[in-house]
Amino acid sequence: MLLILFAGCLLVACGKEVAPGPQVVAHRGYWKTEGSAQNSIASLLKAGEIGVYGSEFDVNLTADDELVVNHDFTYKGLVIRKSTLAELRNDTLRLANGELIPTLDEYLEASLQYPEMKLVFELKSKGDPEYEATAIRKSIEAIKRHGVQKRVEFISFSLSACREFARQMPRNRVEYLGGEMAPDELKKLDISGIDYHHSVFLSRPEWVVEAHNKGMVVNAWTVDEDKDIERMLLLGVDQITTNNPERVMELAEEFEVRDIPSSEL
Ligand code: MG
Repeated sequence: MLLILFAGCLLVACGKEVAPGPQVVAHRGYWKTEGSAQNSIASLLKAGEIGVYGSEFDVNLTADDELVVNHDFTYKGLVIRKSTLAELRNDTLRLANGELIPTLDEYLEASLQYPEMKLVFELKSKGDPEYEATAIRKSIEAIKRHGVQKRVEFISFSLSACREFARQMPRNRVEYLGGEMAPDELKKLDISGIDYHHSVFLSRPEWVVEAHNKGMVVNAWTVDEDKDIERMLLLGVDQITTNNPERVMELAEEFEVRDIPSSEL
């Protein structure tokens, strides 16, 4: 403990910033806190308040081709793709914190309050080409309309959606979620990152190295337990997606300080 304090004081005294740890992404926003709920506007704003690198959210397309933020393909018993926006935003259907299901437009508008925070945009898709074409077109239109292009990182379990985002938005990070593809295979498809369940990196730690050698970003989800967080810190992943963003930031900071070579003290 004394060593940690000493190192911290020395770094502050020298005006040297502690090396940044992995980028922390709040999974479905910061929702494990008072007044919040998964994928709510509040969860996005609360993620901004605690200063995470990015806030993740899930996007679905309605029957009338509107984009809404929700994790599942269903909302309160309604199949989103078979329900209109008006049906989904019925006054009686509310998130745990009382909000209506957010539209993507509302979400992006609210994000302007925290312009430094990245928007980790997951497109939900079952791979239907027509659905994806509409969802991707409307997503990109909304992103451009709100002027947040530079803040968006795309993720999806749909490889075809990842490829299309990479084609249409080549300057943005696109990370594939599936977990079964080697970094090299994805790099050949112009996909710039892997965003896999943390267990994948434990069984295939070489993929972290391979991805970095290819200049790709490595994101691990959903890393909530201390022992798993520490494992990902040790593996050197670039991003940690978590339901406990404050805990990850805390452990990452301790890890960085503890890891300073004694020669620098
Ligand atoms: Mg998600």
